[in-house]
Amino acid sequence: MAEVVVYTKEFCAYCSRAKSLLDSKRVPYREISVTGNRDAEREMIERSGRMTAPQIFIEGEPIGGSEELQDMNDSGDLDRKLGLASPSDASSNKPTSDSAVEKVIILGSGPAGLTAAIYTARANLKPLIVEGRGAGGQLTMTTDVENYPGFPAGVLGPELIGQMRQQAERFGARFVTGDATAADLKGSPLTLTLDGSQLRARALIIATGANARLLGIESERELIGHGVSTCATCDGFFFRGKEILVVGGGDSAMEEATFLTKFASKVTVVHRRDTLRASKIMQEKAFRNPKIQFLWDSELVGIKDAAKGKVESAIVQNLKTGERREVPCDGIFVAIGHDPNTRIFKGQLEMEANGYIRTRNGTATSARGVFAAGDVADHVYRQAITAAGTGCMAALDAERYLEHESH
Ligand code: NAP
Repeated sequence: MAEVVVYTKEFCAYCSRAKSLLDSKRVPYREISVTGNRDAEREMIERSGRMTAPQIFIEGEPIGGSEELQDMNDSGDLDRKLGLASPSDASSNKPTSDSAVEKVIILGSGPAGLTAAIYTARANLKPLIVEGRGAGGQLTMTTDVENYPGFPAGVLGPELIGQMRQQAERFGARFVTGDATAADLKGSPLTLTLDGSQLRARALIIATGANARLLGIESERELIGHGVSTCATCDGFFFRGKEILVVGGGDSAMEEATFLTKFASKVTVVHRRDTLRASKIMQEKAFRNPKIQFLWDSELVGIKDAAKGKVESAIVQNLKTGERREVPCDGIFVAIGHDPNTRIFKGQLEMEANGYIRTRNGTATSARGVFAAGDVADHVYRQAITAAGTGCMAALDAERYLEHESH
């Protein structure tokens, strides 16, 4: 078996994702945590040239982070590199067989998917949960969750998700790792394609959530992991004593800016209007923080310097005056909202113009036996608690549907 080394960091969602992919393949690896270990941190940056965890090495060769590992897995290169004889060696937690028809499949493992899993597992429906690149959902990217009922002192997002997962497992929920790449929701059973194999189910709960949006400007993608990030809790750590820009004016931007002041010497929020969208409490927290400054009515139009493979400055344009200026910075955190993960359902389910799944009578979608819960069908509330609530509704709706269908 190939030698695998994974540099990780505490509370890093992408680290957990990379590790669970390797675990699902039963691949042993050496984990080096860079948390509180400057030597390990330096070593990781020197070996990979990147300032983001995780970083994975196979036989000493840098693979990249969790996204690159997942891409390699999708193309089959990972199994070859790891020396797994055939792709079937890798499947430790796959569904029973290609031909089995599950009672219910849940796509997604954020608060909506996991709550649906707890309810359907307790109802003895033996749910199969498919967790993909976004395992655990957006909560795994946050730090303190202060508004989830039942936790008067707050709870860490990854911890909350971990506990929901344990609760679902306790009632017999099963988990498979992988991204569904296609769906056929026309007939019965419903069919999903996962890593080249077919999954079939009588009912489907879609809880695939939403993904961080990027600005779409030149150099942005190239510099992800080299100073551009969408996850402060993952990458903030690497910007000790540095100057950072945060783009956005919502709760996420305020939360990230506030969190980043733990490490950065200065955080500048760049927002395209002169008022914030964020809730009052989050705004006030940010306004009170002496390390946070604001650039109002401003838009990022460029990032330098892709040729050097690092962030040195941002080109910021004032939308009122048209004036452009170069703002020196070491890191840029983009927090401008999310897009729903509905690509594989396009043309098969009714959706809103912005791509969110349309539901009626609770969580029912336009396809029989298909229910949607959480952010994938909610562009209004988008809270962990509302996602969990609709996850519960989807489980009850699916249970009723299955009961009715079998009579
Ligand atoms: P959001 O509320 O949609 O805010 C997105 C922000 O990014 C807005 O200020 C928007 O500007 C700006 N923006 C969007 N596209 C842009 C672009 N292309 N260029 C520049 N700026 C752009 O998203 P969010 O902050 O991720 O929050 C999503 C939901 O999660 C909300 O319901 C929020 O309450 C919740 N949340 C809660 C917490 C918490 O309670 N602890 C933490 C994080 C998020 P405009 O204002 O001009 O539209």
